Amino acid sequence: MIECPSCGKRQEPLLICAECGTPLAAPLDCFAALALPRKLTIDLDALERRYHELSRKLHPDRFVSKGPKVRDASLRATALLTRSYRTLRDPVARGLYWLELRDEKLADNNKRVPPEVAELVFEVQEQLAEMQLADPEEAHERATQIAARRVELQFTMDEKLVELERHFAKWNQPADEKMLTLELKTILSNIAYLRTLIRDVDRALENAKAA
Ligand SMILES: [Zn+2]
Repeated sequence: MIECPSCGKRQEPLLICAECGTPLAAPLDCFAALALPRKLTIDLDALERRYHELSRKLHPDRFVSKGPKVRDASLRATALLTRSYRTLRDPVARGLYWLELRDEKLADNNKRVPPEVAELVFEVQEQLAEMQLADPEEAHERATQIAARRVELQFTMDEKLVELERHFAKWNQPADEKMLTLELKTILSNIAYLRTLIRDVDRALENAKAA
């Protein structure tokens, strides 16, 4: 419980005093900042609505006459609100944040290329290396092959994102959290590797275009 510095009302920590609307710069997790239940499955429309409603209520312009302390609180609350909204809106960022809330990090378990995408990663890296070494007359064909790969990679990435959303729902039922954490790490790790690969491919295609 915290006490509103303006009206003195004691309440659960929120971004705004429920009684008088004064911004409260309490340290909150992303879900609490948006007054959403701590669940991985999020109603994105509700998230959007809540974000805009709170942004409006916290806008520093509303507190110009209230003194520097209150205005400062509104700025800090707005920063926390924005950070929370961005984290929760993006499913990958949300998944990573979920691990963080459990004191888990993807890097703890992410040193080797995950087996599921290992072959793909290896093939694409080889293709990229070949493309760099290709003769000028060969280069165009190599670039076309890589561009086809880019489509395939995006398809795999989209599949993984669907898998991630499906995984999120599992946390809503009572289950073995240790197992779920491991599963979440695996999916996010696959996505992280695919993301890097897609970035490398895009860079190589840009360079090929520029050459
Ligand atoms: Zn108050």
